[in-house]
Amino acid sequence: MSSDQQIDLFNATTAAGAPAFDASTIPTSAAVPIPPGTYQTMEDIKQHCNTCTRCELHHGRTHAVIGRGNPAASVMIVGEGPGQNEDEQGLPFVGKSGQLLDKILESVRITTEDVFICNVVKCRPPDNRTPKTPEAEACKGYLLEQIRLVNPQIILLTGATALKGLLGIKEGITKVRGKWIEKDGKFYLPIFHPAYLLRNPSRDQGSPKWLMWQDIQAVRTKLDELAGELR
Ligand code: SF4
Repeated sequence: MSSDQQIDLFNATTAAGAPAFDASTIPTSAAVPIPPGTYQTMEDIKQHCNTCTRCELHHGRTHAVIGRGNPAASVMIVGEGPGQNEDEQGLPFVGKSGQLLDKILESVRITTEDVFICNVVKCRPPDNRTPKTPEAEACKGYLLEQIRLVNPQIILLTGATALKGLLGIKEGITKVRGKWIEKDGKFYLPIFHPAYLLRNPSRDQGSPKWLMWQDIQAVRTKLDELAGELR
């Protein structure tokens, strides 16, 4: 799509004079589609999300949580939804889960500059409950636009909600974690959510933390392989 056509999405009429798609209506209803190429920057997405009423989650929103990290990163990490700290600060994974996630990444020399971190839903679910399917669906177009803009090689899906929300896979995370899924030229890896690791502190062989260590090493190996292919 040319940039002229993209600008048209936000304004204008078609050549035949019929009203063109008006992107300013996106935040008003989940029935309005979010066509690929709608947004040019994360800031554009942020503006829409902060006024969005496409799902019930807008009622509890202080700040829409769009993402943090490098918007041109080779690794994207998709979580579930903002918690209280994230909602207050407008940033994802800033509490204990976020600190643990950063530590896990650092252990294989992946810095915050190498990743872009976001969530399936941009507004905080009440009492930190799991986002409902219609909520994830209403928000999915924003997430797909984020993936298009970042264009990562690897997407880590932290927990079952991210796995279901993005790939439609309903299997438990314990079953599918650590198994690469190649789709549309990208490598997806389901992994445990860091909050789950905080609740399961054992490091014994076979424990969630031990399995996460295997998975994050697999990410390092995949990144090195992909970098090697580019050389
Ligand atoms: S969660 Fe997503 S779809 Fe729902 S109101 Fe917030 S930005 Fe809109």
